[in-house]
Amino acid sequence: MGFLMIKNAAELVTPIGRSARGGRAMGELRIVQDGAVLCRDDKILAVGTTAEVKNTLAELTTDFSSIEQIDAEGKTVLPGYIDPHTHFIFGGYRQDEFQMRLQGATYMEIMEAGGGIAATNRATHEATEEQLYEAGLLRLNRMLDLGITTVEGKTGYGDDTETEDKMLTVMERLDRDHPVDIVRTYMGAHSVPPAFKGRTGDYVDYLIAEGLPMARGRADFCDVFTEKGVFELEESEKLLLAAREHGFKLKMHADEIAPLGGAGLAANLRATSADHLLKASDEDLLAMRDAGVVATLLPCTAFSLREPYARGRFMIDSGLAVALGTDLNPGSCYTQSIPLMTALATIYMRMTIEETITALTLNAAAAIARADTVGSLEPGKKADIIILDCPDYRHLSYHFAMNLVETVIKSGKIVRKP
Ligand SMILES: [Zn+2]
Repeated sequence: MGFLMIKNAAELVTPIGRSARGGRAMGELRIVQDGAVLCRDDKILAVGTTAEVKNTLAELTTDFSSIEQIDAEGKTVLPGYIDPHTHFIFGGYRQDEFQMRLQGATYMEIMEAGGGIAATNRATHEATEEQLYEAGLLRLNRMLDLGITTVEGKTGYGDDTETEDKMLTVMERLDRDHPVDIVRTYMGAHSVPPAFKGRTGDYVDYLIAEGLPMARGRADFCDVFTEKGVFELEESEKLLLAAREHGFKLKMHADEIAPLGGAGLAANLRATSADHLLKASDEDLLAMRDAGVVATLLPCTAFSLREPYARGRFMIDSGLAVALGTDLNPGSCYTQSIPLMTALATIYMRMTIEETITALTLNAAAAIARADTVGSLEPGKKADIIILDCPDYRHLSYHFAMNLVETVIKSGKIVRKP
C-alpha cells in the first residue's frame, strides 16, 4: 500500500460527477485554492485544501516519512486529459499529400496520385505488428508528455479482418505495456475496400459475419464513417444494430462532410457519442441531447482542413454535453496537441476555458463510457492527475498552444517529472 500526496497547489481544478455534464453545467468546476490530493495505490482517496487532506492522512497513518509527496506550490492541478477520438495506429505517413492539399489539390487529385486513406490501408497491411507497435509507442509517449492519460484508439485501416485483427492486437499490447490506458474501438466501416467497390452492402455483410466476431470482447465500441457515398444511413444502422447484438457500445462519425443525418441516427440508437458534427442539423443535435449522446468535437481536423468549426457554442447553449478529441490520424489531422485544441476551442469555437476543461476531462471520459472511473478528481476515481506549470487554470487558454504540463501521475504513479 502506498500513499502519494500532492499539496500546496495554487489551484486544484476539476469538474465533478460520474456522467457527462451538459449545457451550463459544463462551466461549473470545483476550484480549490491551496489544493491537495491524496492517493492510495492507483486511486484517489481525498481531495480538498492542503490542511483538510493532511487531516485525512493523519487519521490513516502517523508515519508521514514513508509518504511520497509532491509540492505543487505555484502550480495548477487538473485531472489527466482524455482523448476520446483517435486513429493512432497506422502504417506509413502522408506528408506529401498534406503539402499537395495545402497547395490546393482536390480529393480526387490526391486519390489519383495514390494518396488518401487507401495509401494508409496499404501501408498498414504491409507493416509488421512490431512496426505498428513501435510507432504506436512513440505516439503514446508524446500523448503522455501532453498530459493525456487515457486515449481511445480505432481500427479501420485494414481492408480485411486480418489487418484489423493486427491493429487490435497492437492496441491490446500497448495498453498492457504503456502507462496510457487505451480504450479500443472496432471501425471496420471506415472506408469501403477496393475489393468491395460499388458493393457497400456486401462489405457491411462481411463486417457483420467476420469483423464483429473477431473484435467482440476485445473492443468496447463499434464505430462507422457515416457519410454520403461511403456508409449511408441504412448501411450504418444495419452494422450498428448487429454490433449492439454482439455487446459493443456505439459511436459514429456523423455529418462531417455533408448533412446526411448521422447525428439523428446516433440519437435513435442511443450511441455513446457522435463525432465531428460540422454539418449536423439543429433538430438532430437536440435529439442527441435528449438521448444523452455526447457530442465529440474535433477542431484540429477542421483547422487542418480549413473547414468551419463545429458549433460548440450552440450545442452547449442548447444543453448538449460536448467533449473534445484530437482525431489524431495520418490523413486529415496528424496531431495529438491538446494545447492547440484548447486554443481553437476557446478562441474560435467560443467555448469558455471552464467548458473546455470539462470537455477534455469528464465529458471526454463519458464519450468513452469511463466517467465512473476517470475524468475528475474525486475520491474513488483512478489517480490520473496532471500538474501544470502555471498558477491559474486560465493560463491554459491565455498562454495558448503551449504545453504547460509538468508532472503526470497515472494510476497513482509519477510517469512524467519536471
Ligand atoms: Zn475519426
